[in-house]
Amino acid sequence: MNIHEYQAKEILASFGVAIPRGKVAKTPAEAEEIAVELDADLYVVKAQIHAGGRGKGGGVKLAKNPTEVKTHAEEILGMQLVTHQTGPEGKLVRKVLVAEASEIENELYLGMVIDRGTSRITLMASQEGGVDIEKVAAETPDKIIKQTVDPTVGLQDFQARQLAFGLNLSAELIRPTTKLISNLYQTFVACDCSLVEINPLAIVAGKEGSEIIALDSKINFDDNALYRQTKIEALRDEHEEDARELEAKASGLSYISLDGNIGCMVNGAGLAMSTMDVIKLHGGEPANFLDVGGSATTEAVAHAFRLILSDSKVEAVLVNIFGGIMKCDTIANGILEAVKQVNLNVPLVVRLEGTNVELGRQILSQSSLDLITADSLSDAAEKTVRAISA
Ligand code: GDP
Ligand code: MG
Repeated sequence: MNIHEYQAKEILASFGVAIPRGKVAKTPAEAEEIAVELDADLYVVKAQIHAGGRGKGGGVKLAKNPTEVKTHAEEILGMQLVTHQTGPEGKLVRKVLVAEASEIENELYLGMVIDRGTSRITLMASQEGGVDIEKVAAETPDKIIKQTVDPTVGLQDFQARQLAFGLNLSAELIRPTTKLISNLYQTFVACDCSLVEINPLAIVAGKEGSEIIALDSKINFDDNALYRQTKIEALRDEHEEDARELEAKASGLSYISLDGNIGCMVNGAGLAMSTMDVIKLHGGEPANFLDVGGSATTEAVAHAFRLILSDSKVEAVLVNIFGGIMKCDTIANGILEAVKQVNLNVPLVVRLEGTNVELGRQILSQSSLDLITADSLSDAAEKTVRAISA
């Protein structure tokens, strides 16, 4: 699960990470009020969407006074903000963060993820923070320093210090940065995060010399841990989430939206993954990952079908079911039921195998449904790709 920058900052602040003063606003008038309250020399107005790259897209603007804050809020609120992370359609901005702007001396990067390779939390830091961290990672990966945490002992002070020294900080910033890294690690573990990113981690001019603060932040949470993170679950912004993914979740289906044009309905996550692989092998692109589960009912299959067909990108549907616990006749009935409910106007390729396969095939062949049957997974993928290009 993702949250907004202002929410991530509130969490970080509760773990002792320094952040700029600020508040979220839904209207330009509210934004102006917040600015008056903050009473700062300079302000920053920041679009709150679940995507980065807002600065380059025109979603982060500096303002000299509350009136200017209001003007920027008017421009940003309601805009369809396009960044390299939103896709060409962009994202509608419904909230802005109004904060005291900082006088930035240097922009660094600090990130924390679960490294699947080592199965450990890995910290990454770079002196080259700011808006082009992806470029740094791609072109000069040696400029990113790392520390891997041993879960039995947690993050050690020396590791935090090594990162701080690796950032080439001035002596007086080593201690606060080490503390900040340690606070970030506490946040990561306590909140069951899968990613925490501070970019920029900024060195700013404070009242008594330079300070280190989180100017931007992004947190992702492990969905499987949300059952014990009720406060975090409450931060969910449904506007930002894929409507189909939410609907699928509510009906117990595992569904992930993708960019391709082949809708996939499969039972079992492993089979769903291999179906996507084989589609790609034949030159196609899956429009989704969908696991209807091992014991889905006719209704669940019909629901899954509606979900796939509600996606306008879908130009063909591939049903790949291995009837183990779920029987092939259930699937066949589910398909017929679904097609009755939705207007099937794209080619449908079905590959059934397993329990009651003959019965399932018979149900499909006796129906008036115009579908393409396939014998193997490879055959199914090939026929689907061909049906689209035909
Ligand atoms: P992102 O583009 O979505 O990652 O949004 P960020 O919050 O990282 O902001 C983008 C850029 O705007 C930062 O890298 C800074 O250069 C600039 N920026 C953000 N906040 C401030 C601020 O308080 N003061 C100044 N001077 N620049 C800021
Ligand atoms: Mg940023």
